[in-house]
Amino acid sequence: MALLVHKYGGSSVATAERIRKVAERLAAAQGQGHQVVAVVSAMGDTTDELIKLARQVAPDPDEREMDVLLSTGETVSSTLLAMALRALGQPAISLSGAQAGIVTDGVHTKAKIKNITPKETHRLLDAGNVVIVAGFQGQTPGGHITTLGRGGSDLTAIALAAALKADLCQIYTDVDGVYTADPRIVPTARKLDEISYDEMLELAGSGAKVMQLRSVEIAKKFRVVFEVRSSLNTNAGTIVKEETRSMEDIVVRGVALDKNQAKVTLVGVPDRPGVAARVFKSLAEAAISVDMIVQNVSHGSSQPLTDLSFTVDKPDLPKARAVIEALQADVGFQEVSTDENIGKLSLVGVGMRTHSGVAAKMFETLAAEGINIGMISTSEIKISVLVEAAKGEQALRAVHGAFLG
Ligand code: ASP
Ligand code: MG
Repeated sequence: MALLVHKYGGSSVATAERIRKVAERLAAAQGQGHQVVAVVSAMGDTTDELIKLARQVAPDPDEREMDVLLSTGETVSSTLLAMALRALGQPAISLSGAQAGIVTDGVHTKAKIKNITPKETHRLLDAGNVVIVAGFQGQTPGGHITTLGRGGSDLTAIALAAALKADLCQIYTDVDGVYTADPRIVPTARKLDEISYDEMLELAGSGAKVMQLRSVEIAKKFRVVFEVRSSLNTNAGTIVKEETRSMEDIVVRGVALDKNQAKVTLVGVPDRPGVAARVFKSLAEAAISVDMIVQNVSHGSSQPLTDLSFTVDKPDLPKARAVIEALQADVGFQEVSTDENIGKLSLVGVGMRTHSGVAAKMFETLAAEGINIGMISTSEIKISVLVEAAKGEQALRAVHGAFLG
């Protein structure tokens, strides 16, 4: 007998029909003698619709109320799923995040889980129930409802799997697993049998949004092995786990294209100590996260100047521009330019640690396609380049072809 945690995303419970299908899958797992916990997201686009509704009544809705509102989405799906299971003759019970013992800090709309007391869940499992936990929510020690940030049901599932010491955590979604590239753009992309946490984090951070980033970080921290698989079929998915020796034989695990970045360039920045600190501190204070950063070698000898470029998430661009413009008089750069027509192409693989020539091959591939590289950044297991947005998909296909066939 194993303890299983299943997580079903919004598309997997989008309709009554799909909820019944999920109930059948859970009842079958329980029928095989396992203990089963299911974490669910809100049905379909419920969360987006609730956010829209809130903005129609208030330009800047109160975040504490927002959390109570958004948590109702998962209340709906979890209770319906429990009803569907009971209709199949399978004992089942739904629990809110709070009832499942999930305690968070008080940062509304993006709370962090502080601890989980799984006692009640164990008791209900031992009594023969499938336990359905509403994803994405918890409560503060003072009893206020919180939510865990968009996509937070993944985090609920991973954290519960860790707290319950589950034997297996399966993340059911509308894709078959993690692919070498987005199959909608790259027809030859393949589903991966396995991937390491670090590779998954780099790919997710590079725009391959299969799961909430933080949930993968938590899985890594608590060594929760999990599987990403489809709720629409019974195919094996992709196992996400600690890096193993054999993983290093594969140099490149996947490629991703992030179309959600914009580039900011400060032209003619005085090359003296403290300038970069000034710029990035101001951005950080405005809660703008910066991804790639490139500073040129300085030019001019009497008063050396340099150019400084960085990328931010596209929605943060207006804010970033305002922050930078406010610094102009003080820092004394000549001008600021921005570019939204970019794509960030990233090549990811733990095998890069032990193999050389990966960057050269990537750049050659892009050159052969006549694609210019804007900025380059690297980590131990990733190489990212900026390319013109219009050529992003062509670049993705070419680089995928060169490394992954
Ligand atoms: N319903 C929430 C959202 O859409 C949480 C989740 O889906 O995981 O962000
Ligand atoms: Mg959702």
